[in-house]
Amino acid sequence: LPNKLPQVGTTIFTVMSALAAEHDAVNLGQGFPDFACDPALLDTVTEAMRAGHNQYPPMPGIRPLRAAVAAKIEALHGRQYDADTEITITAGATQAIITAILACVHPGDEVIVLDPCYDSYVPNIVLAGGRAVRVPLTPGSFRPDFARIGAAITARTRALIINSPHNPSATIWSAAEMRQLQALLAPTDILLISDEVYEHMVFDGAEHQSAARFAGLAARAFIVSSFGKTFHVTGWKVGTMAAPAALTAEFRKVHQFNVFTVNTPMQHGLASYLKDPAPYLRLPAFYQAKRDLFRQGLADTRLKLLPSAGSYFQCVDISSVSALNESDFCQWLTREVGVAAIPLSAFYGDGFDQRVVRLCFAKKDETLRAALERLRKL
Ligand code: PMP
Ligand code: GLN
Repeated sequence: LPNKLPQVGTTIFTVMSALAAEHDAVNLGQGFPDFACDPALLDTVTEAMRAGHNQYPPMPGIRPLRAAVAAKIEALHGRQYDADTEITITAGATQAIITAILACVHPGDEVIVLDPCYDSYVPNIVLAGGRAVRVPLTPGSFRPDFARIGAAITARTRALIINSPHNPSATIWSAAEMRQLQALLAPTDILLISDEVYEHMVFDGAEHQSAARFAGLAARAFIVSSFGKTFHVTGWKVGTMAAPAALTAEFRKVHQFNVFTVNTPMQHGLASYLKDPAPYLRLPAFYQAKRDLFRQGLADTRLKLLPSAGSYFQCVDISSVSALNESDFCQWLTREVGVAAIPLSAFYGDGFDQRVVRLCFAKKDETLRAALERLRKL
């Protein structure tokens, strides 16, 4: 039997969502909004379909959307990307990431990932014939440990994957940390895959430090984002890849054969919706209000709050509530308390268990209140 991914089972997100449905639990596990997107966005897509935009678009995506993405990056981060040669529309961030990895990782290459990391990275590297080198973020703070990252670099290191705002820890990289990374990579030809899907969810006045802001990083970076996250439409699976022309050319060689194109009407709808920056500029305040509501409620429970500086996740320490390991706790919490969560151990290669679980607050306030009412009984 074929067995290309012997270590891989069903993703934790699928498992926990199924368990939540089975037990009628409030699903704060898998990260997705339970509220509707802006009706104006639905109108733009519907209009595009009615206007006949229903056949294959150009391979890299429709030009108005690529141009809108380039303009947005320039406005926010001050770097110009050429819409024709440096921006590609992808089938969500997931396809952007695997395509970048397949395009640049050769058999035997090493790719450094920072644990805990999103669950698709390592299987993607394995499928490319590469070897994932897992370097832990600093335990407790989840900050990058540059000495450890530096020590993991070898002559075979092809790429490094970073993710800020971070899933699952909800930390964000500072400008100083991005500069430290830039200095570390400067003497190397290591490529950077920068997963920035939560770019518009940063709180307390902080700014998202895109790799696009740092010349030495941007020159080697595949920068990934997701309209699913930004516009509350995770099921649409439309994302973006921004990368220098030489990297984009390699990226598109793979893209044209693993997806070819991304659905046309959503691209037209997104292109016209992006003309107004207000919807994404509102996002930090929108999610910060949800984070604050959720944190205030959690403060009345026995769960211990970790910081949440960005993303739509809140991690909590369970050690004063239960003696169970993270995974068993999440199962128990879903079945017996009626709230689904994700164990952080699912984001580590060795199943490291620090008694911390992840909750998603991209939910209606009433959903968050219903979950809090249950969690207060712990
Ligand atoms: N990277 C991270 C860190 C994510 O959290 C997610 C979504 N859960 C993705 C990538 C995939 O995004 P998309 O749904 O656009 O494929
Ligand atoms: N990115 C989402 C999360 O971390 C889930 C995506 C998925 O189900 N694969 O919860």
